[in-house]
Amino acid sequence: DLGQRLNIPNDASEVGQLAATFNSMLDRIQQLFRTQERLIADVSHELRTPLTTVQGNLELLRRMLITAASSGSRTPLLHETLQETLNEAESETARMSNMVSDLLLLAQADSGALQLQLQPVEMDTLLLDVYRRTRRMAEQRKGAGALEIRLGSEDQAMVLGDPERLRQLLLNLTDNAIKYTPSGGVITLSLENRDGWVKVAVSDTGIGISEEEQAQIFDRFYRADKARSREMGGSGLGLSIAQWIAQAHNGRITVESQVQQGSTFTLWLPEYSPLPGASPESRP
Ligand code: ADP
Repeated sequence: DLGQRLNIPNDASEVGQLAATFNSMLDRIQQLFRTQERLIADVSHELRTPLTTVQGNLELLRRMLITAASSGSRTPLLHETLQETLNEAESETARMSNMVSDLLLLAQADSGALQLQLQPVEMDTLLLDVYRRTRRMAEQRKGAGALEIRLGSEDQAMVLGDPERLRQLLLNLTDNAIKYTPSGGVITLSLENRDGWVKVAVSDTGIGISEEEQAQIFDRFYRADKARSREMGGSGLGLSIAQWIAQAHNGRITVESQVQQGSTFTLWLPEYSPLPGASPESRP
């Protein structure tokens, strides 16, 4: 408990104004505490779930090995079950490890310790790189089934940015597009440079996001389709990180979507136009 709200006297006195200011500060602090508590609860829950699965798998393996050793059996069924149990343990530990990296990144971002390495970046080159990686990711996706990855408009554009972070952001978007698009779907990457804004869009013909959910998907740990996201290895942190990176570049990410039709996520970044004659390294 952080203390009592003050009674505001029924006049326009300075004491009244002070009391009102105090109360609104108190509300804000209480809200921050609640956010913090919820975050810790979410983190513990998200990490405990895969941990429980892995513990169960290890326990099962141990019992199977003891049984196998005592009976001297080497049946194919045993082998298959061992394989499956190990696979599950492996993918759950990978999930946890990704989640921990994502959380560390967000914690660094919150504390101001995450520094961007700014430099002029050719977005069209970066987009091509993301396009190639996305094709590879689509080929390897779980529960496979063909997806078509296309390139739409390909303007040229420069931004002042951290190329690694921007690549990470775009790969988060294409990774989602792959996760939430059923086989036979199309994912289109495009780049437009207009009116001082560089727009990179990732469009899919996937499951879509309702209007109500669109307001929440950038929140930490929010997942519209929990079962599907979990199955696909999602943590609900990807878009929070992507939005943070966009804002750290003075940009933002917007979403347009219709349920069962598809989604378009657009990254907006201010265009960088080096002064004529300036060396590419110089900052504006
Ligand atoms: P996750 O790891 O669960 O994918 P994200 O933060 O990347 O977490 O996304 C949050 C949620 O937004 C997802 O769980 C999913 O419900 C929804 N979402 C994100 N991208 C898409 C998309 N392209 N199509 C449909 N739903 C999406």
